[in-house]
Amino acid sequence: MKGHIPEDIIEEVKARVNVVDVVSEHVTLKKAGRNFVGLCPFHREKTPSFTVNPEKQIFYCFGCGEGGNAISFLMKINNMSFPESIRHLAGKMGITIPVKKVTAGEKRKASEKEKLIRINQMAADQFRHNLMSAKGEVARSYIGKRGIDDTVVKQFGLGYSPDEWRFLQNSFDGKGVARDLVRKAGLIIIKDNGQCYDRFRGRLMFPIENLNGDTVAFGGRIIGDGEPKYLNSPESPIYVKGKILYGLYRTKNEIKRKDEAIIVEGYLDLFALWSAGIGNVVATLGTALTKEQIELVRRFTRNVSIIFDPDEAGKSAVERSLKLFLEEEIRARVVILTDGYDPDEYVRTYGRGSLEELIDHSSSMVDYYIEEIIASGNTLEDKRDSVRDSVSFIGNISDPVQRNLFIKRVSEKVGIDQGILKSEVGKKLVHRPSPSGQRAIPAKKREIVDQIELSLIHMMMEYPDRIPIVAHDRIFDYFLSRPLKNIGESVVQSYHAGENKNLFHIINDLADQGIREKLLKLTVEERPYDDDVIIDKLLEDTIKKIRLRWYEMKRKSLQGELIKAQRMGDMQLCERLVIEKGRLLQEEKMFKV
Ligand SMILES: [Zn+2]
Repeated sequence: MKGHIPEDIIEEVKARVNVVDVVSEHVTLKKAGRNFVGLCPFHREKTPSFTVNPEKQIFYCFGCGEGGNAISFLMKINNMSFPESIRHLAGKMGITIPVKKVTAGEKRKASEKEKLIRINQMAADQFRHNLMSAKGEVARSYIGKRGIDDTVVKQFGLGYSPDEWRFLQNSFDGKGVARDLVRKAGLIIIKDNGQCYDRFRGRLMFPIENLNGDTVAFGGRIIGDGEPKYLNSPESPIYVKGKILYGLYRTKNEIKRKDEAIIVEGYLDLFALWSAGIGNVVATLGTALTKEQIELVRRFTRNVSIIFDPDEAGKSAVERSLKLFLEEEIRARVVILTDGYDPDEYVRTYGRGSLEELIDHSSSMVDYYIEEIIASGNTLEDKRDSVRDSVSFIGNISDPVQRNLFIKRVSEKVGIDQGILKSEVGKKLVHRPSPSGQRAIPAKKREIVDQIELSLIHMMMEYPDRIPIVAHDRIFDYFLSRPLKNIGESVVQSYHAGENKNLFHIINDLADQGIREKLLKLTVEERPYDDDVIIDKLLEDTIKKIRLRWYEMKRKSLQGELIKAQRMGDMQLCERLVIEKGRLLQEEKMFKV
């Protein structure tokens, strides 16, 4: 499972990684006492129940029960394997993973995704290099002409693909990279007759990064005349179009800071805003906004302003996104630029202040929809159509409060009786599948976990200096739950293996989901005691309870056996059982004092 990463590197990564840093890349966290809290990226919620504890390096969601450490967070959120996430973290920490002793079999196992990312990274380096070389003259002059400044070129890693058929292919051939992988990465095209050529030729190149900062695709703007004006990498195992927002990796901190995201359509729009000092911006790259993209933004803010190109501020685009925003409970505003400008032109003409003012005074998407779309018609026919459209739109809003608000406002605006509108919407609702307001939390196998034994294990993790006492008492022999007994013993083992090891990491690897979840929960919610007397008393009581319960259980089972033996008339067995019972009672008394 661990690939060819040496154990000591894995340990180093585990020891140095900070779960708060890792989670912050994906979720806006706020300090709350000893913990940080935020909106869970794994289920939909209104109030933050996703909790991260920096001391224990653990996260846990009280809403859906998802939890673990930094590595399991990465695995879950990025759909990465264990070695992938270790390699990713090692890369960020500047830890080099030695490439020695890689057998052919292991090499094949290195995941395809990792290889594709590496190929894209190599291509990005090559494109950047081209831009600065003699070949890049034409691209540099284009950059100057479009007014893209140097910091943008550097920050967003812009590059250039020369107008040649096999430039990139030759470069990869020279490095011994398999052509089929380069094709899979979308960088070359292989024809049926085996001929290959570069996909991007004579273009200004924009690396497209995922939220980890890995280059997963490219966009290319033609320099000079030619079609298409913009060309994107095709989808691949590492790149799905509607699941990425361009620039988010670079701008998410500013989005968090301002608690607002501005959504534009294209690269140049984003650059224009960014250069003007409006850094909380992302680009959809021309496609209609998807649910997945909105979910990405939602991890960092719930305030969004969309700048629509006026020529495309069509009804359907607004209607479509508004529905998604309402579902995700995001406050969305619509910014319509005057005079047919796109954001790039607008900032250049009127400056940053004017655009900011426009954004600040933009109307909410709900208002925009009602004012400009529903109520836009003048004739009776127009109004009838508006009502019909609004009924179907309102019928799709899953939150009943939102729905009623909408009904009220539309009825006022169009001048139609609220009751009639409500009943029309009601007819629509009947045919809808059950409201999908809250995403269903997958039902996990939840078994009853012994609370007393569990709390002893938790205490051992909280107060490792007491572990020798617990171990000395052989308390695990008195555990009724076999899985908990095993966990207890492995805690003791880890403690002896390395005194300063973070014992909470053990939780992450637990196979029993029920126990794992309960321990994570205890770990983030319980406030540990600092008072030694209280800790010792608590520990003593817990151990005592566990022992007495075991004796009680043993007594009951002996009693049962005794009755059975009497019924069968087995006097010898009866005698043995009575003696055994007496011995146990004697023992129990010793512990009771
Ligand atoms: Zn959750």
